[in-house]
Amino acid sequence: MNRQSGVAAVRGEIARAARGAGRDPASVTLVAVSKTFGADAIEPVIAAGQRIFGENRVQEAKAKWPPLIARHGGPDGGIELHLVGSLQSNKAKDAVALFDAIHSVDRASLAETLAKEIANQNRRPLLFAEINTGAEAQKSGVLPQDADGFLAACRDRYGLRISGLMCIPPHDDAPGPHFALTAKIAHRNGLELLSMGMSADFPTAIAFGATHVRVGTAIFGQRPARSE
Ligand SMILES: *Cc1c(COP(=O)(O)O)cnc(C)c1O
Repeated sequence: MNRQSGVAAVRGEIARAARGAGRDPASVTLVAVSKTFGADAIEPVIAAGQRIFGENRVQEAKAKWPPLIARHGGPDGGIELHLVGSLQSNKAKDAVALFDAIHSVDRASLAETLAKEIANQNRRPLLFAEINTGAEAQKSGVLPQDADGFLAACRDRYGLRISGLMCIPPHDDAPGPHFALTAKIAHRNGLELLSMGMSADFPTAIAFGATHVRVGTAIFGQRPARSE
């Protein structure tokens, strides 16, 4: 797998999808999801100019990224880390310290904990609320009908600034309606950012307004199997 050309190909597809939707390609941020991959796989992607990376586990990111960041200009070198996986409250402190964005704010107790950590650490990660658009029992995220109330509570009760919404459509559904619903909830709540679209469906997500696409396999290749 040539990861350098993988990231270039994904960038090309992002640009094509954006233009096809009458959007500026620069309005779509590529989050390269590097979970399970080590520095040897990540280095060529950094060499190809990619600076924004996604991880789904705090512990893994904490072990893997500080040396990589140090090697590429340190805190001012432009590398940004995004947490795309679900976050346990007991890891919120580490997550706020390490990540520049958290895509998975999915419950009130986490919102409350994050608000405290953000105040304590004086950090301002970009935050997305995760919406469980398919109302899947095994998936985290706020149910669509609870989204407006959740966002109001984040703002008014916890003083937490949420900038956008994230969704992961059910595996067997056409993703378009899930992206459309997420965009609609964001719009009526005045949120500008939409984290939606993965390797299989990011061009569709861009057509529905995605501002952040989270792409792993199409850049890095198949992930080694691991128990989740
Ligand atoms: C792993 C993961 C991705 C990337 O998925 P691919 O299908 O490999 O592109 C995106 N979002 C989340 C939340 C993930 O856990």
